[in-house]
Amino acid sequence: MHQEMYPSGFTIIQEAAPGDCAYLIETGRVEVSVQRGQRKIVLATLGPGEVFGELALVAGTPRSASVMALADTVVNRIDKGYYREKLARTDPIVALLTRVLVDRFHEARDKLLILQSTALDTTFEPPARSSPALRDHTVVEQVKLINELQAAMDGNEFQLYYQPVVNLKTRKIAGFEALLRWLHPELGSISPARFIPLAEDSKDIIPLGRWVFAKACETLKTFRGIVRADAGDDEPWMSINVSAVQFEDPTLTGYFADTLAELKLCPGAVKVEITERVLVENTDAALGFLADIKRLGMKVALDDFGTGYSSLSYLHRFPVDFVKLDRSFVNTMLKDERSLKIIHGLTAIADDLAMALIAEGVEHAEEVDMLARFGCGYVQGFYFSRPLPLAEAAGLLRDGEWLGAANILA
Ligand code: C2E
Ligand code: CA
Ligand code: CA
Repeated sequence: MHQEMYPSGFTIIQEAAPGDCAYLIETGRVEVSVQRGQRKIVLATLGPGEVFGELALVAGTPRSASVMALADTVVNRIDKGYYREKLARTDPIVALLTRVLVDRFHEARDKLLILQSTALDTTFEPPARSSPALRDHTVVEQVKLINELQAAMDGNEFQLYYQPVVNLKTRKIAGFEALLRWLHPELGSISPARFIPLAEDSKDIIPLGRWVFAKACETLKTFRGIVRADAGDDEPWMSINVSAVQFEDPTLTGYFADTLAELKLCPGAVKVEITERVLVENTDAALGFLADIKRLGMKVALDDFGTGYSSLSYLHRFPVDFVKLDRSFVNTMLKDERSLKIIHGLTAIADDLAMALIAEGVEHAEEVDMLARFGCGYVQGFYFSRPLPLAEAAGLLRDGEWLGAANILA
């Protein structure tokens, strides 16, 4: 938001102009009006603390009224980018209700204007307005998924897939990341990118996250029992994603400890992944959680690094063992000098802080070569393997062979 000043008599908003911002009045006064034929109809006079321009911003339609300063006026401008970013993180139902309310308001006001104007002016035509999409199918589908989450848990519709993480020095599997899939009876396999935010909103992620942890640990136990073709290596580890909402579960780390004890698993073989964004936005809760994780002897990986706006110099504040470089850097490193420099700098800092670096989303041999040259410790990506169901991941581990990437085997 930034401040703007308008002198008395200035037209801040022109009717029918594109609406890409709203304004919050700090001081002064404005008049909201519409021009109908020869007539100017004043709709409102607004003062400090009131908002104008919000209808076009929310509905994405042209300005439906003009706004003029009646006195010298100071406003705070709310830009479309700011609004969209906040809206994207809002509950989908609240977002839909907001849009519906704005549309209903437009309809009601149009009717009122027609009534007023036709009484006075027979040439009046109602303002043309393209109807904004009230039938939002994404929201309908989201609501369906939210309603079905609980039953899906009871009905065993969730499954874990496992994606190998490769040690770049030995070029062998160092561990796996457990990635959740929802095998929906009608919609097929649903990406976690779609349902995890819904499960976070509904808090279903709390029982679901516990299930993921237990299941991934059971699998790790199985993997550790596999006699590998490359015997003599370190035993594989398992990386498990945790959402910020799970910090609200007071017995979560106790549950982790019990699960590890029951399975007689070494805690050091389990990594908990939290995203950089979670760490930046929920610093206190995250630090408390990570301290518990470390106390239990588990490892911590900072996920999607480079997307959460923390600074590199910040890293030493957190008890992090692994930094996972987001795939947007890996994707662009061969084309964009800046990505390359960031990766180069990060490998040096991670080294200094005794943190291991995992590059995510590696899809090409050239990326593997470049990362190896920088001294990056680990890589993960489709180049080596997509996330696999348990049996296939176990087979890969047993054989020590790569699907489609045999050329890089040492
Ligand atoms: P993430 O933790 O960053 O997981 C990596 C994602 O990148 C996975 O997507 C994986 O399939 C994808 N990926 C791996 N290699 C490549 C590659 O070379 N190219 C491309 N384009 N993509 C690659 P997936 O499985 O769809 O998961 C999406 C996100 O959902 C995960 O991102 C994670 O944030 C979340 N998620 C998945 N499982 C869980 C879970 O059990 N709990 C929680 N809280 N979040 C989860
Ligand atoms: Ca992850
Ligand atoms: Ca990631």
